[in-house]
Amino acid sequence: MKATGDAGGLRSSLRSASFSIMAIYLDHHATTPCDPRVVEAMLPYFTEDFGNAASITHAHGRKASMALEDARIVLARFLKVLPPEITFTAGATESNNIVLNLLQPGDHLITGETEHKSITVPAERLAGRGVEVTFLRPDREGFVHPGVLREAIRPNTRLVSIEAANGEIGTIQPYRELAAVCAERGVLFHSDMTQAAGKIPLDLTGVHLASFSAHKLYGPKGIGALFIRRGVRIEPLVAGGGQERGVRAGTVNVPGAIGFAAALRLRQAEMDGEAVRLTQLRERLREGIVESIENVSVNGPRELRLPGNLNVSFDRIEADSLILAMKRFSLSSGSACSTGEKGPSRVLQAIGVGDDAAIGSIRFGLGASNRAEHIDMLIDDLKRVVRKLREIAVA
Ligand code: PMP
Repeated sequence: MKATGDAGGLRSSLRSASFSIMAIYLDHHATTPCDPRVVEAMLPYFTEDFGNAASITHAHGRKASMALEDARIVLARFLKVLPPEITFTAGATESNNIVLNLLQPGDHLITGETEHKSITVPAERLAGRGVEVTFLRPDREGFVHPGVLREAIRPNTRLVSIEAANGEIGTIQPYRELAAVCAERGVLFHSDMTQAAGKIPLDLTGVHLASFSAHKLYGPKGIGALFIRRGVRIEPLVAGGGQERGVRAGTVNVPGAIGFAAALRLRQAEMDGEAVRLTQLRERLREGIVESIENVSVNGPRELRLPGNLNVSFDRIEADSLILAMKRFSLSSGSACSTGEKGPSRVLQAIGVGDDAAIGSIRFGLGASNRAEHIDMLIDDLKRVVRKLREIAVA
């Protein structure tokens, strides 16, 4: 919103805000709304219980510290790990960067071509600083096969980092099998679980490190977590006051941690039912598109896919034009972190989708606020807009 300082400017800002709120939100991979129950749980920690969790010489600090440790226990129980194995961070980008920071020149890192940019960009930077980096190519549905990983491991392989699920094409990786391959070879295994947490059950057996973010699961932005299995040594990326057992210095975001824990509690109770509901909505959308619009193809797997994810290529369509014309919906063509980048999606290229098809691809991210009638409206609008854009292209 632009602050113009006059009543007319404010009115127009509000109009544009209410316009965007009226649109039906279908981009839940980019972020989710904070659940009002989460906001309620956080509120006291901004005002009356505002203490610094490191100031344990007085009651205010101790109260914050106790609340923070309770939040840590909630995360640990959710993941079936020990509370000291949970470090609060500013989000999954930071968690991923902390993990890659353990690599030294001469080490070998294995990761995937479809990983989030908060893995691939630091990995490329490491490659320029003497770390050997292998980007594994997934199969056509986005899966990284344990056999492919086994082949890629070298004597100096220090770390393997493969996400649990992909936020663009929804592929759920066989991360437990990948972790088992790493265990056979004595290699550390990290998984970016940002898109999977709160949507599918997780099992951290054999996983040494894992990254999480609250805002993908109806929690607040700016808070994440890093699971570090006991015995795994980490170099801090942000040094300072030694908070979070020296892994992540800086005053801990206590309201954020409370919100993260509250969001996870809700996911624990509601996740299974929501997964069934979203899978049904996703299938309704997939069938609606495939049956009523010609020349489309679905990207990513049919099974082993995040419940709320669908990715579709529309032939002879540019996704940007389609998204602009679909005024009743908030849609995206791919990762929000790649917004502003030109050219086809890196993830779609990695699974062998041609450039033309990739440019005409939409990622649908279904979530808590979506209902069957939204899906039917969406199919109707897609049919109309795709027909119109194709007519214009021919004319
Ligand atoms: N990893 C994945 C798989 C993601 O989808 C995202 C968010 N788009 C991130 C990491 C970064 O998370 P955050 O916004 O908490 O930094």
